[in-house]
Amino acid sequence: MSTQQLDEDILALEAEYAGHQAAGLALDLTRGKPSIPQLALSNALDGALEGDFEASDGTDVRGYGGLEGLPEARALGAQLMGVGPEQVLVGGNSSLTLMYLFMMHCHHHGPGGDAPPWRETEGGPRFLCPVPGYDRHFGICEDLGIQMLPVPMTGEGPDMNLVESLVVSDPRIRGLWCVPRYSNPSGETYSEDTVARIAALGRRAAPGFRVMWDNAYSAHHLGAPEPLASITAHCDAAGTAESIAYFASTSKITFAGAGLAFFAGYGATLSAFKKRLEVLTIGPDKVNQLRHARFLGRIGGIDALMAQHREILEPKFRCVSERLQEGLGNTGMGRWTDPAGGYFVSFDTGPGLAREVIALAAGAGVKLTPAGSAFPYGDDPEDTNIRLAPSFPPLEDVDRAMAVFVTCVKLATLRQRRAAEG
Ligand code: PLP
Repeated sequence: MSTQQLDEDILALEAEYAGHQAAGLALDLTRGKPSIPQLALSNALDGALEGDFEASDGTDVRGYGGLEGLPEARALGAQLMGVGPEQVLVGGNSSLTLMYLFMMHCHHHGPGGDAPPWRETEGGPRFLCPVPGYDRHFGICEDLGIQMLPVPMTGEGPDMNLVESLVVSDPRIRGLWCVPRYSNPSGETYSEDTVARIAALGRRAAPGFRVMWDNAYSAHHLGAPEPLASITAHCDAAGTAESIAYFASTSKITFAGAGLAFFAGYGATLSAFKKRLEVLTIGPDKVNQLRHARFLGRIGGIDALMAQHREILEPKFRCVSERLQEGLGNTGMGRWTDPAGGYFVSFDTGPGLAREVIALAAGAGVKLTPAGSAFPYGDDPEDTNIRLAPSFPPLEDVDRAMAVFVTCVKLATLRQRRAAEG
């Protein structure tokens, strides 16, 4: 493109951008939250018990106790995590809280068996963090003072050559974060080879190594489900069952703020964490557990409810994909994911442009997740990654926000090209 053409295109884009600004927008694509119509799908949770407080095993759910959770609630967790119900603990409403507690437990007391507490690791513990990844996972490590080592995602999970070589060569590494299906934010599902290699890590890593297997999006398909190999089966074959800590919740299935959260583990991983929870609580909210079991049973189960979520979510993701393709396809101005499930689209600008695009979008009334948030310590070394979360706003707002986003990507890219020409 000639310099003159570039200048003309920039002027046209600046006019387009001013038009967006004049519209006085206030749109938000920052966080992966279910929308109000999605929350309303579970309104029948309210009143689901109809005065009958007796669980399937005869428990009066109004009382204390039942640390492991009701049988019917453990069965829901088992379904989401792909383990047996006897491996599951149901605790509170937030899997993030369970992850924090589990990490703190490992850090201060050790993950179970003979493994020493992570905090006693010579030089300090380290954790492998696939990037781009979930900012709140990284927040837990940062809070506990566990040093994070980024590992790139490949399209079929973390770069396992790098993971394996680090786990073998660095005795300070104590674990690996994983979102195995429809990862946050890349949307990728781990391949069978990746799952098998993660299952085998427990044989080669330092004692006390744990994989944080956060299956937050296991039922969250936008189309035909992407298959995910069973890490439990691969661990059985490798003799590493205790190396996995499983997590899931119904936050994006029923009520985001009043769902059920699940932990699962095998052997000492389960028994040691259960012992810790016994110190922390006399028992979880079993009323909510029973409400969930009854409500989900009545409507045909988790998959039936997720099909209703899909009807609301899929058009929003299609809109993002179409807007990006129309506006930026074949321009070389960015790469993006087209996820088959989950809550995010991951967009990569050219090097050094994510911060600028996000600032431009903010200037036109479109709030995006801060640059770098999908990286440990907020440090995106190339300044390219932007996480788009279209679930919460209405479809018209997603459409409007994406039009602004496309303008901002084009404007920032052409200005950068112009500046390089001097
Ligand atoms: N794990 C991942 C990968 C997430 O993306 C989220 C929320 O966005 C959570 C966990 C939070 O789960 P919960 O609501 O159960 O705390």
